[in-house]
Amino acid sequence: DTIGANLDRAVAAHPDREALVDVESGRRWTYRSFAQAVDEVALGLLAKGIGKGDRVGIWAVNCAEWVLVQYATARIGAIMVNINPAYRVHELAYVLRQSGVTLLVSSVSYRTSDYRAMVRQVRPECPALREVVLIGDPSWEELAAAGSSVDRAQLMRLASELSCDDPINIQYTSGTTGFPKGATLSHHNILNNGYWVGEMVGYTEADRVCVPVPFYHCFGMVMGNLAATSHAACIVIPAPVFDPEATLRAVEQERCTSLYGVPTMFIAELNLPDFADHDLATLRTGIMAGSPCPVEVMKRVVAEMHMSEVSICYGMTETSPVSTQTRRDDDLEHRTATVGRVLPHIEVKVVDPVTGVTVPRGESGELCTRGYSVMLGYWEEPEKTGEAIDAARWMHTGDLAVMHDDGYLAIVGRIKDMIIRGGENVYPREIEEFLYGHPKIADVQVVGVPDEKYGEEIMACVIPRDAADPLTLDELARFCDGQLAHYKVPRHLRVMDSFPMTVSGKVRKIELRESFAPQPP
Ligand code: ATP
Ligand code: MG
Repeated sequence: DTIGANLDRAVAAHPDREALVDVESGRRWTYRSFAQAVDEVALGLLAKGIGKGDRVGIWAVNCAEWVLVQYATARIGAIMVNINPAYRVHELAYVLRQSGVTLLVSSVSYRTSDYRAMVRQVRPECPALREVVLIGDPSWEELAAAGSSVDRAQLMRLASELSCDDPINIQYTSGTTGFPKGATLSHHNILNNGYWVGEMVGYTEADRVCVPVPFYHCFGMVMGNLAATSHAACIVIPAPVFDPEATLRAVEQERCTSLYGVPTMFIAELNLPDFADHDLATLRTGIMAGSPCPVEVMKRVVAEMHMSEVSICYGMTETSPVSTQTRRDDDLEHRTATVGRVLPHIEVKVVDPVTGVTVPRGESGELCTRGYSVMLGYWEEPEKTGEAIDAARWMHTGDLAVMHDDGYLAIVGRIKDMIIRGGENVYPREIEEFLYGHPKIADVQVVGVPDEKYGEEIMACVIPRDAADPLTLDELARFCDGQLAHYKVPRHLRVMDSFPMTVSGKVRKIELRESFAPQPP
């Protein structure tokens, strides 16, 4: 199926079921009215001269229009380019030029972000950009109205010309380890992945899925929107950007059965002073992904948020995104120590990063994945594509993993984050988990920094529980003494208020490393 054909199936089977609710604006659509609204936008795009293969940028926080553009572009085979709403002019101009966007949908403004002004600023640098449509401005209404001049039959004709393997989406990676790369994805890639993720959590038309994660990221648009609509479930948008209070209120009011988030979002919800006042009893499941989840948080999510079937997913933008996922009846151990089992129709292997030979179960190596989910390539970057996908179509993830005997996979870190100190491989995760146990440490990141003698030395970046009483390097050394091998003990300490983060909620270790300046002795 193409995404359009798949949506038609949901409409035919459940026309009066709700498809989409935008809680903040109070607007709601059934499958029938949602498909009509999608078609209006699709016809509007045709009227503006957008056709198959043309790039349509979307640069906005979460809202119903975002979802309409997602399905409307897929309907006509245009390539939607997701742009991070936190980007500013420099990054926006890069993405627009790199992907050759001809029509950009954005919004007027959101809080301190004046999108209209920023778009105006980049236009002279982006000659290919012909048209800008702003949500919340007459130009949005005009887009839908423009479609009335187009014959609806044209949509049907177009549908027969689309192929499941056509590119329809360019998604930029989070930029955790460097500059974001544009993964090019087909209907086949993301629709199948959304469908299987939804199968694993058991979605049906009775489910109502609360999506507080950004749509511009695959977590929102694939694991959220496509997982829901491929099972005729309902997408609930709690707020334009993540807000823990608004999220719990939406779950309660809309009687959601599923809730998404990265671990830090669940932590924020559990820590709300009025957490206990929210009735979350309708929740059954949800998805946590993006980074590892601490055991204590998982216990509370299961017990206090009623999410007894909560699912852990592992994936990356380049693989549509999900490769492994926990199952509905997995125990706490598998939900915290592993990222689940491989999804149907995907292969995984763990190899020695140097020799490429598969390592025995229980040993760590680079994770490689293969199957329908592997992207078409990085948009107009054949060299980078060649580095990531080998001749046998294996995607080299850059993640370090261990395959256990029972088929469950554990992620132990990223190759780029691995520290090589005097020839010893050191995994930051292991040291971080040990340091979390220190009473003065609220949060910690471990990175490698240049060292004349050992090549790399270990630095701990610490957010203290009490800013007035931060940890000292001496205290840190004493805590590690006799507990960690000498070469794993951090020789540098930096006390910070916060860590540099990506919008998808991950710490940018690269910035921590780059900010390092050796202290005078
Ligand atoms: P970039 O590739 O630009 O540096 P990124 O890799 O963070 O950024 P994404 O595609 O958003 O961009 O994230 C995929 C990565 O997130 C994976 O390669 C993995 O390192 C990490 N990840 C995803 N899910 C999990 C999980 N459940 N547990 C641990 N790590 C995870
Ligand atoms: Mg990556």
